[in-house]
Amino acid sequence: MSAVPSNPLSRLQLHKFGGTSLADAGRIAAAARLAAPVADGASVVVVSAMRGVTDALVALAAVARGGGDWAPGWQALQARHHEAAHAIPGADTGTLIARLDAEAAALHADLGALAFATEDAALRVSERIWGHGELCSAWLMHAALGGEPAGWARLDAREVLVVHGSEIGMHVDREASLRCLAGWRARHPQAHVVATGFVARTPDGHATTLGRNGSDHSATLLADLFDADAVTIWTDVDGVLSADPRLVPDAVCLSALSYAEACELAYFGAKVLHPRTIVPLQARGIPLSIRNALAPSTRGTRIDALGEAARSPVKGLSIVDDMAVLELTGSGMAGVPGVAETLFAALHATGVSVTMISQGSSEHSICCVVRAPEAARGRAAIENAFADAIAGGQVEGVRLETGLCVLAAVGDGMVGSQGVAARLFDGLAQARVNIRAIAQGASERNISVAIAQDDATRALRAAHAAFWLSPQTVSVGVIGPGNVGRALLAQLSEVIPALRARAGVDLRLRAIASSRRMYLSDAALDPDTAGALLGDHADACDLDAFAAHVRADHLPHAMIVDCSASDAVAAKYEDWLAAGIHVVTPNKHAGSGDWTRYARIAEARVTGHSRFMYEATVGAGLPVIVTLRNLLDTGDTLHAIDGMLSGTLAWLFNSFDGSRPFSELVREARALGYTEPDPRDDLSGLDVARKLVILAREAGRTLSLADVDVESLVPEALREVPLDEFLQRLSELDAPMQARLDAARAQGRGLRHIARLEAGGDASVGVRALPADHACMHTRLTDNLVQFTTARYAENPLVVQGPGAGPQVTAAGVFGDVLAIAHALGARTGWRHA
Ligand code: ADP
Ligand code: ASP
Ligand code: MG
Repeated sequence: MSAVPSNPLSRLQLHKFGGTSLADAGRIAAAARLAAPVADGASVVVVSAMRGVTDALVALAAVARGGGDWAPGWQALQARHHEAAHAIPGADTGTLIARLDAEAAALHADLGALAFATEDAALRVSERIWGHGELCSAWLMHAALGGEPAGWARLDAREVLVVHGSEIGMHVDREASLRCLAGWRARHPQAHVVATGFVARTPDGHATTLGRNGSDHSATLLADLFDADAVTIWTDVDGVLSADPRLVPDAVCLSALSYAEACELAYFGAKVLHPRTIVPLQARGIPLSIRNALAPSTRGTRIDALGEAARSPVKGLSIVDDMAVLELTGSGMAGVPGVAETLFAALHATGVSVTMISQGSSEHSICCVVRAPEAARGRAAIENAFADAIAGGQVEGVRLETGLCVLAAVGDGMVGSQGVAARLFDGLAQARVNIRAIAQGASERNISVAIAQDDATRALRAAHAAFWLSPQTVSVGVIGPGNVGRALLAQLSEVIPALRARAGVDLRLRAIASSRRMYLSDAALDPDTAGALLGDHADACDLDAFAAHVRADHLPHAMIVDCSASDAVAAKYEDWLAAGIHVVTPNKHAGSGDWTRYARIAEARVTGHSRFMYEATVGAGLPVIVTLRNLLDTGDTLHAIDGMLSGTLAWLFNSFDGSRPFSELVREARALGYTEPDPRDDLSGLDVARKLVILAREAGRTLSLADVDVESLVPEALREVPLDEFLQRLSELDAPMQARLDAARAQGRGLRHIARLEAGGDASVGVRALPADHACMHTRLTDNLVQFTTARYAENPLVVQGPGAGPQVTAAGVFGDVLAIAHALGARTGWRHA
């Protein structure tokens, strides 16, 4: 068996596995496969306790210290380790169980001793207890790797890692540790080593730990001592992400970081790395990778001296919770030297560490951010240090504000890059987050702001959006996935990836609702499968909650697409638009309903800086409204609008040539699905009248449905009868309709169902006899046709014609509006580097 050579060219790899990666025997076995040494190389594997075990030990020690019954907890831990031991493939179970039981017996003795120990002794015993999980998981991993026969030794890091407390935290005695390691190596010459994370020893030989989450630090300390070529920390996420993924669902994995960036991120709370992890690597230039043990094919994050220039000058954002601000104010402080020095000396003397400092250039106040549990002590110390100045009135006193946290933006690229702070503050302002204090590190690698703890998640998401998201990122909610909604979702699913890649338009479907149910999601939903989420387990539909979710603070824009035909939904547009949510719809209720509501909607979109688009309300996907708008916006004057605005009625009159009775055609249209289930909804002309109202209002006319002279094709006697009876008596329509056709033909004309808006504002809907050269006489099937007669298009009117009904074309009209809004949101300007 060969010893681990100390030559750096020997390809010594160090792997560290966190608790999640060691949750059970299956995970441990998978981890063992990842840590297997490469040919001619050697491995050192550092392990945390199995998931949850350290928490359990900390709780158990507290119970034991308080004289409580710790036995059941102890048994549960032993059982958990036994269970894993029995399930590790190929392990020498007898030896493994004996080793685990020896650790369990030591734990048993320690727990028994705790209740009777002195304060000092109790702390020492507790430190031993806390580290029990690592002692066991190292035996489990050792067995999973094949144990001694496969060339693996198991190292209890308490034998070699010598640390002692110092003024600035834990300090490693490198020389003593190297000596211990050499001694241990002489006794354990195996090529490969499994070592316990988290635990260490004091110079006088007592067990200690490196602090919660300290196994990362153990790994890099051991990497230095073992002279490793590279370190891989395996965890349960893809690497270091741009923000804590539990708080920011859109966080992205960073491919590379410099040591300095990683240090700052870890210091400011990115839990994926213990804050001291980088230090041992930096001097020796040992590269570190953070990778996902559950997805080993992903590349993870590489951390080394170089890092990598990224698209955004900010690499990561993090939050340190539970902070407080101490503010010393007084007009007598300005220009007086030594004020800051006295303040920090006072804090230092009482052991309060300062996370952030800011001082106004007027020197009227100094403000520092400290950990909340230490704040009261800090305030007392400062008041004490400035007692004379306070008594003399030069200093007003020390204000303490709790309930805060610190948000830090970190990245090497911030150096010399203009506008980083502006973008951060802009993002926070958009989310209405109030900033209590600001500090920028002299390295310009970090900007930190103190904000209210309650704002933490909102602020983090907003700041993240400001740096990482396309300015054309839109949070989208779709209501009413009937035929049109379904078609829209299918169209979205086809186009969304290309839109993001090519145009920077990032449409994120985050909410979906029917009249009864809704499903809200933080992460973007797949439009293809989103409809299925509205099953019984979905929440009851609440339109206000739906809108509040869509209007997410962390995404730059919000849009609701209403594909329902509901007036109750239309009644909400006003509120939504005023709240800044864009609204797109094929629903005609708002455009043709109550005039005062229509006027309020128009106002709301001004106050909310939002857009309301409804192209698909008239002519489905045909560019009808946009054409009218363009005419008017470019200064043309509208004289009249004539149109065939119903696909159903268009088909009926295109087909009605007298060879078959009108009623037979209605029956056929119904069978083909061209009519509403009750054909009277089409024949009444009301739907066409609604569309005419929408067009008239678009042209600036104050028109309502009641103002339209609507001719219903349903005879008076059939209007109120049940549907069945209506269908039976349908032939009552035939004689009068045939008579009209004959009369028209006698004049060389034909019949069409026409909506008309006159120059004077008169509006009518009904059957007209038109000359053969009228544009409406040259339509096919269910074609819609809209003819605009204007000052410019006077002799020969402008005509928009084509299929104007059906889910696919209607959805396309809606989609066109969605895109028009997204494109109008504008691209953000690029970074200017000094
Ligand atoms: P391990 O048990 O492997 O040491 P930890 O739970 O200590 O794992 O750290 C990984 C967790 O850190 C992730 O699951 C994630 O929730 C959290 N985390 C917080 N901030 C970040 C960040 N910026 N990048 C990646 N993970 C983060
Ligand atoms: N097991 C220890 C803890 O839970 C150390 C670690 O996991 O890094 O804090
Ligand atoms: Mg960890």
